[in-house]
Amino acid sequence: MHAFSYERPATLARAVALLEAHGPEARVLAGGTDLIIRLRDGSLAPTVVVDLKRIAELEPGIREADGRLVIGATTVMTDIAADARIRRRFEALAEAAAVVGSVQIRNRATLGGNICNASPAADTAPALLVHGAVVVIAGPSGSRRIPIDGWFVRSGVTTLGRGELVTAIELPLPAAPMGSVHLRRTRRRGHDLASVTLCCGVDASGVTRLAYGSVGPRPVLAVDATGVLADRDAAPDARTGLLERMLAEATPSARSMRASPDYRLAMLRVLARRGVDIATARLAAAEGRR
Ligand SMILES: Cc1cc2nc3c(=O)[nH]c(=O)nc-3n(C[C@H](O)[C@H](O)[C@H](O)COP(=O)(O)OP(=O)(O)OC[C@H]3O[C@@H](n4cnc5c(N)ncnc54)[C@H](O)[C@@H]3O)c2cc1C
Repeated sequence: MHAFSYERPATLARAVALLEAHGPEARVLAGGTDLIIRLRDGSLAPTVVVDLKRIAELEPGIREADGRLVIGATTVMTDIAADARIRRRFEALAEAAAVVGSVQIRNRATLGGNICNASPAADTAPALLVHGAVVVIAGPSGSRRIPIDGWFVRSGVTTLGRGELVTAIELPLPAAPMGSVHLRRTRRRGHDLASVTLCCGVDASGVTRLAYGSVGPRPVLAVDATGVLADRDAAPDARTGLLERMLAEATPSARSMRASPDYRLAMLRVLARRGVDIATARLAAAEGRR
C-alpha cells in the first residue's frame, strides 16, 4: 500500500480545511468499504486520508426537519434499512440499503460513501433519484444543496468540488403516498454487485419515476408525467413505446465482465415492467391504508 498520512479531525471546519489544502491528493474515509480496497490495490494513492468518524457535526443519524427526512452522510446501510420512516415512505431506499454487500459491509458502508464513490452499480442511487433526494455539501464557501439528478457525472466522478464533502442526504417527505420498489439483477444469489439496478416510484397523480443503473456511466432518471405508464387501462402499445423511450439512455459497456450489453438491456426492460407493476400495487395498498 502506498504511504499516506492519516488525519482524524474533530470538526467539520478542520476537515474542509484539510480537503481544501490537499485537493485531489486528499481522500475522505467514511466506512472504508470502497476506499480501503482501492488503497490496497493501488488504484487510489492519496497522500492524505481524512477520517470523518470523530467529527461531531457528522454523527450518523436520521431526523425529520421542515418537511424533509435528513439522513446524515455517515449513516450506515443497516440503520437505513431498519428505519421505520424510510421503510414506510421511501420503501425503495430501504430495500436498496438492505441488499448492499453483506451484513458486515452494511454495518460499515455509509450512504454518503455510496454516492461519493459514484459506481454506476451503486444500489442506493436509483432509489435516491426516484425519491428526489438532495445532497447537502459543506465546503470552503459554506454549505450548498444540489439535487441528486445533478450529482453523478460518470463512474467515480461527481460534481463535488475541491475542499467539499457530503454532510447529509435529504428526502422531501411526500404529501401523498407513493409506491416504490428497488429491483436488481446479480450474477448469483448472495452478495454481488448488480448487473442491472432499477427503481420505480408511482405517486397518486399517476406520475411514474424510473431510475436505473449499471447500464451506463451513471445512473439515469426518467419521468412519465402523463400517467400513461401507470395506467393499466392504457393501450399496451402506448405503454411499451413510452417505456422504451424512458429506457433509451441505457448504454451498457461491452467491456464489463459482469454481463453483456444485450443481457443488461433485456433485463432492464423486464425489471422496468415489473417495477411499474409492484410500485402501482404498493401505491394502491398505501392508499387503502389511509
Ligand atoms: C464485498 C463488498 C460488497 C459490496 N457490495 C455492494 C453492493 O451490493 N451495492 C453497492 O452499492 N455497493 C457495494 N459495495 C461498495 C460499498 O460498500 C458501498 O459503496 C458503500 O456504501 C461505500 O461507503 P463507505 O462508507 O464504506 O465509503 P468509503 O469507502 O469510506 O468511501 C468511498 C468513497 O467516497 C468518498 N467519501 C465517502 N464519504 C464521503 C463524504 N461524506 N463526502 C465526500 N466524500 C466521501 C471516499 O473518499 C471514497 O472515495 C460493496 C463493497 C464491498 C467491499
